[in-house]
Amino acid sequence: MVLGKQGAGKGTQCVRLARHYAVPHISTGDMFRAAVRSGSEFGAKARKFMDAGDLVPDDVVIGLVRERLSQDDARLRGFVLDGFPRTVQQAEALDEMLAPHGGVELVVDLEVPTEVVLKRLASRRVCVECGTNYSVERPPEDPETCDICGGKVVQREDDTESAIRRRLELYEEQTAPLIAWYLAKDKLVTVDGVGEPDRVTTRLIRAIDRRLRRGPDG
Ligand SMILES: [Zn+2]
Repeated sequence: MVLGKQGAGKGTQCVRLARHYAVPHISTGDMFRAAVRSGSEFGAKARKFMDAGDLVPDDVVIGLVRERLSQDDARLRGFVLDGFPRTVQQAEALDEMLAPHGGVELVVDLEVPTEVVLKRLASRRVCVECGTNYSVERPPEDPETCDICGGKVVQREDDTESAIRRRLELYEEQTAPLIAWYLAKDKLVTVDGVGEPDRVTTRLIRAIDRRLRRGPDG
């Protein structure tokens, strides 16, 4: 499982870790977006919370994750979990789900200082049509037009500095108890997330391999 504030590069790194370890990448954010796109009843419910800027309630997220983790690929090969748990109640539910398999194997905290992610997020630009991410430093060929689909490339309304700061503070508040929870269980490893994505990936894999080789008894 990977923890990391918005803008820490968690999504990118999770995709790479999943590829490296040949396990599914299970992202609750992706699952919610897919549900909303599908127009299902669940998607409509999820959208209401997301539009209101609220967290989706624990029982809804837990149900979704439980269902996903029971599928064969996750059950047989393991997984990289991204975006869950967000609360201690969710962490307790996850422990319960994974109890037959010895619980959560390892929790990685991808650590990037707030000032660094603030800069990254404030420079972020996104295609309104296909969702491709760009930045001021890496714009599309025409700064306002998506290279992939020709859609309009804009700064998200909620990417203003004050809004970003608020989201980051909320994240710290929410995550501090989780970090304490996994630290107490000796499941937590902190990895420096500053630098080129390739270097961060190497750092992550090295830290994970070191911890998993060590085994439960040190
Ligand atoms: Zn596009």
